[in-house]
Amino acid sequence: MTRSQAADRLAAIPIRVPGTLDAKMAGPVEAFFVRHRDRLVWLHAVMFLFFLAVIFLPLFLPEAPENATALNNFTRFANYAMWGLWFPLVFISVIFTGRSWCGLLCPMGAASEWANKKGLQRPIPAWVRWEGTPIISFLLITILGQTVGVRDHPEAVAEVFGGTLLLAIALGFVYGRNKRAWCRHMCPIGLLLGVFSRIGAVQFAPKRKKAGGDRFTEKGVCPTMIDIPRKEESRHCIECFRCVNPQSQGGLYLRLRQPGEEIAQIRRHHPNPYEVLFLFLGTGIALGGFLWLVLPQYQQLRQAVGSWFIERDWYWIGESGPWWLMSVHPERREVFNWLDFSMIVGFMLAVMVLLSLVLSLTTGLSAWLAGRLGADRGLASRFVELGYQYAPVAMVSLVLGLGGELFSPLTRLGLSAEMVGLVKGGLFTLGLLWSLYLGRRILSNQGLQGARLWLPLLPGVIGSIAVGLAWWPAVFGI
Ligand code: SF4
Ligand code: SF4
Repeated sequence: MTRSQAADRLAAIPIRVPGTLDAKMAGPVEAFFVRHRDRLVWLHAVMFLFFLAVIFLPLFLPEAPENATALNNFTRFANYAMWGLWFPLVFISVIFTGRSWCGLLCPMGAASEWANKKGLQRPIPAWVRWEGTPIISFLLITILGQTVGVRDHPEAVAEVFGGTLLLAIALGFVYGRNKRAWCRHMCPIGLLLGVFSRIGAVQFAPKRKKAGGDRFTEKGVCPTMIDIPRKEESRHCIECFRCVNPQSQGGLYLRLRQPGEEIAQIRRHHPNPYEVLFLFLGTGIALGGFLWLVLPQYQQLRQAVGSWFIERDWYWIGESGPWWLMSVHPERREVFNWLDFSMIVGFMLAVMVLLSLVLSLTTGLSAWLAGRLGADRGLASRFVELGYQYAPVAMVSLVLGLGGELFSPLTRLGLSAEMVGLVKGGLFTLGLLWSLYLGRRILSNQGLQGARLWLPLLPGVIGSIAVGLAWWPAVFGI
């Protein structure tokens, strides 16, 4: 075949509809990143140095004065960069650009891959590949973050983020061959971004799709081990552009899509029970991690449990444990003891179990009702599909609850607390409505139309409202 024949054939592949936003924007963006992908390594190097500075430099600086701000003190700046900017913005960016953070900017994933090139390149063992591994990793890191006070203490930031970085490098050094085993199988942030990337406006889709469904493969160029021609889901794609070549007839191409499309059509995008489990557990543990800080009932419970121990002369409960397990910072008037540690862990786990039960119940009821009204497939498949409807409301809650500092500049710009509350309320309502819309689309794809849709949709409404009410103290204050 001549070059021009190949070009003609390529032009005939109907990957973009001329005149659409997808054709106008995705083509140039794709060409830009393909042209510059070899230079990403420099961006990663700069990000790596910045990351090291943010997590380690505050350890060597004097204590920040009470009235210091992010504009005149590096420790405060590092804290705001981490929790006021990075955390909420990365999650918001997923809606617009998918996991672009992972492929284009994240220094941790890049360091892990670099270590892999120099390392032992052993086969990835089954315990790493197990789908539950990143869930456990997420839960452990989230709980540890709370007990050591990762949002308040530079030492805790260094421990949690520095430790995660070390693990990412060590795992990369030992396992995989030119891959990112850490990013696919163990990164707690990657798992969260992966779930939410399914609602993103960006997709990397095969130009020539092979049948057979999404598969894991250690062969090929993909660092997160996606079988490229069979790719169906967005969650493992870190948007590195390595499989994209505009001149080629194979590989993937960048496609813009309606946000939420993948979840609305989840049955065609490899739905996964572990992912739904994570969506429920992850939302619950994050909620627990916030609520213990603000609920007066938590303090009352702590008091009661502490008294119970003291009455039995078990005084060890009031002693502090090791610094790497709990916050021990007398200089900042925060010293946790074993009572605090066990109460925080127990409370977070209890909230996680409770919220997961509520969401499982509402999802199960939806799936069951849908079946009674004539929806297709089995109860388990319908359950998994419907579980994804909570993704938008869970994401908005996480951003508003844990990334609340993003909104603090609004008050400095002169907006009253009520106005900021209104902004947050508006965003939350959007998340709620989006979840309901997706629930409706999923049910419709299960074969329910018209009036038969509304009854199975109702438990989903209750589930979304339950998530919203649970996050209420975080979003609007108590
Ligand atoms: S998966 Fe984790 S380590 Fe990998 S690139 Fe994404 S955030 Fe970074
Ligand atoms: S599918 Fe392509 S763009 Fe996505 S991670 Fe794999 S190689 Fe990179």
